[in-house]
Amino acid sequence: MAPHQTGDRVFPQLNSFALPAAKFYFAAMIQPSMPTADMLYLAGEDQEAFHRKAALVTRAQFGNQVFVRGVVEVSNYCRENCAYCGMRRSNRTLDRFRADYEQIAELLIHHRPASMTDVNIQAGEDPVAVREVVLPLIQTLRRETDLGISVCLGSLNHSMYADLKNAGAGIYIIKFEIANPKMYAAMESPGQFDQRIANICHLAKTGWRVSSGFIAGLPGQTTEDVLANFNLAAQLPLDGCSVSPFIPGEETPLANESMAGIDLTLNCMAALRLMRPDWVIPSVSALNIAGAGTGYRRGLRTGANLVTINLTPADFRENYLLYKRNRFIMTEERILNAVAAEGLEPSTQSLADFYGTRKANGTATHAAEPTPQTTAASA
Ligand code: SF4
Repeated sequence: MAPHQTGDRVFPQLNSFALPAAKFYFAAMIQPSMPTADMLYLAGEDQEAFHRKAALVTRAQFGNQVFVRGVVEVSNYCRENCAYCGMRRSNRTLDRFRADYEQIAELLIHHRPASMTDVNIQAGEDPVAVREVVLPLIQTLRRETDLGISVCLGSLNHSMYADLKNAGAGIYIIKFEIANPKMYAAMESPGQFDQRIANICHLAKTGWRVSSGFIAGLPGQTTEDVLANFNLAAQLPLDGCSVSPFIPGEETPLANESMAGIDLTLNCMAALRLMRPDWVIPSVSALNIAGAGTGYRRGLRTGANLVTINLTPADFRENYLLYKRNRFIMTEERILNAVAAEGLEPSTQSLADFYGTRKANGTATHAAEPTPQTTAASA
């Protein structure tokens, strides 16, 4: 019997958000499980039960609270050329920018949303921006605020990772994107596959909390390719992982391809949660493109426990071209409305504090891993 079928039998009557003690008891009985192909294509009532089970496991692990992080995008220069991203270096139509760190610091110190406890500083792969914008920004924020600080800056050299950590950042977001090395190369994903994985391991070994992620629904992606993403993620030293739906980006070679299905994406999120109950899993804003109007909230209903408020100043935002110029911007109001509508509440504890507390309590984040099978990476 497939693992989700066990859950379907136990949980169909449960309301995911009332959280009676019995539900924690049942949730505790669910063993972490590796995803199977049938989980990826669940639909209808089976899918609802599967998502409910993932949400229940999330609530048992994290309660009703979701972490609230702000993101600032500080440079759209990128030396990489990913086929699925509008910021690829071959896109000559983009107005490139680097933010003024003092402007961003002013925004984050004096005008940040009250609900946000952490900030993620994000850029294309741009070492100049790391030196000129990100490092002084982190130093300023560390001095002036108690925000938890994450960065998402791509593959950098080891001394730059150390500089960022010494400045005060603690969480590194670096997606492996695609676990099939051949597809990784064909999609011109960042640098070399092996080096990307080595960077993830290096970051974890040097004290960073690392969150990774992969893309669901890429053109040409097979079921085996999707499952390989889970197998690879399970073997990496991670504290969190995201699933992003493929969105055909403007000004990219994949512009005319079909968008990922929201159901595949959400099924991947639920499967990820059931594989690793302890991971921090975001509801990514692209869910609202793949599932117009409902995708984001469905993500919160499917095992996500992190939301992100976009704080990039409006004059930069249009040229931070991850997918389309016409982005759906997740403001604080939209985020808090979605969180409240799902019966959840914003965490007052920062993600950075949470990780610190978990470490102090000796709760290993890399424990209780389900047995992984052979990955595309090791095949
Ligand atoms: S996905 Fe990241 S590394 Fe790849 S082109 Fe876009 S910004 Fe650059």
